[in-house]
Amino acid sequence: MARPFLYHIHDSDLFDGKADFESIEKKVPINQSPNPKKLLESKKFYSLKRDLAALRKKGAAKNICDASVTEIGKSLKGRELLAIKLGRNPDHKVLFVGCHHAREWISVELPYYLAEYLIENFDDNPTDDKGRRIKHLLVNREIWIVPMLNADGHTRTHEEDRLWRPNLRELVFDVATKIEVAKNKKRTITVAPGTYTGVDINRNYPTKTWGQETYRPGSDRRATSRDPAEGGSNSIFCGVSLDSSDPAAGPDVEPEPRALTDLMQAQKFKACMSFHSFSQEYIMPNEVKSDPFLQDHADGVKELLGRAEKELNKHYKVSRSEEFLYTTTGDQMDMYAEISPKRPTYTPELRPDQGAPDLTIFSGLPEAEIEPCFKENLRSMLSMINVAPFAEKAKRVTATASDSAPVAQVVGNSWKVFLDWKA
Ligand SMILES: [Zn+2]
Repeated sequence: MARPFLYHIHDSDLFDGKADFESIEKKVPINQSPNPKKLLESKKFYSLKRDLAALRKKGAAKNICDASVTEIGKSLKGRELLAIKLGRNPDHKVLFVGCHHAREWISVELPYYLAEYLIENFDDNPTDDKGRRIKHLLVNREIWIVPMLNADGHTRTHEEDRLWRPNLRELVFDVATKIEVAKNKKRTITVAPGTYTGVDINRNYPTKTWGQETYRPGSDRRATSRDPAEGGSNSIFCGVSLDSSDPAAGPDVEPEPRALTDLMQAQKFKACMSFHSFSQEYIMPNEVKSDPFLQDHADGVKELLGRAEKELNKHYKVSRSEEFLYTTTGDQMDMYAEISPKRPTYTPELRPDQGAPDLTIFSGLPEAEIEPCFKENLRSMLSMINVAPFAEKAKRVTATASDSAPVAQVVGNSWKVFLDWKA
């Protein structure tokens, strides 16, 4: 790509009169939250809205983009939840999502640059193996990409609070209010009168476990909370219940997870990735453990990430959600798994790793790391597109000792073709 890799913002008037794919310079708060001093630094950005519009045009000219799909709904504050739809075969649909958490800027860029990469590298008359493979993916799959689900929160991160995480929901409690938490650890929360801002939209999906609070292992520190006072910049607040008198009532779902849930229900995706940062870890549902098809694919993803590690020196772990730092409820991956059970899905936590100094976490990851981060995850993203039509075949029993368990080799071809991939 000729132009530099930069971060995207949703859009701004500053782009008026600029050419396609041109950047602007904008003052943004530094990586400090909350930011009472309004310390500012100047950074270059692209417009997600305008870059996607330009990409749709390019993709439509190659007959691999449905330019009529521009968004999947609106945010709480009315911003478009931007989308791009690629590929020619609606029988095998794949979903990529970025930016549930506003401050995780890098999570916008992987799905965005994937769309750009596929369109730029598509050729209806390919001349090499790479071109033939890209053509195969776009002719035989349908790929939905939603790079910035939390459009409101993301806007706040470059306008006033660089480390803002949830959406911008404001809840006003006029009187002290009790919330009974019935599931998991029981407790009664008393919400003091006041205004509380920010639902964690990755805790707010109407899953079977929504509303169950979770804790970091061996501590009283919550990772999912029913308490609006645990909203704000670092929100882990899962939103309010539809009916506070009914312990089984689901959440009042925010517009952003509502739009994505509706999309997942309508499209029945066969594979899905939702990006976050940080810690360099691919999280999978716990059901992988009992499903040879999913386990086999996960082993493949591990190998693909290992191959990338040889080039870019970044190690990624692949683990089940119960093995991650903490568990959550009401998250997108669980929602996907309920809608499309037994299909591959990952929540990649991108750069940096756990030991990174504070200034490089979340939105502070330097622009120079966007491209290598994209490249080290490209093989696994392509394998997710490829795996859509694959399913567990009749298990082949490997003839070894008579008492050994059957070995399922089910999805090898879905990922092995990308081992030697050159970006
Ligand atoms: Zn996140």
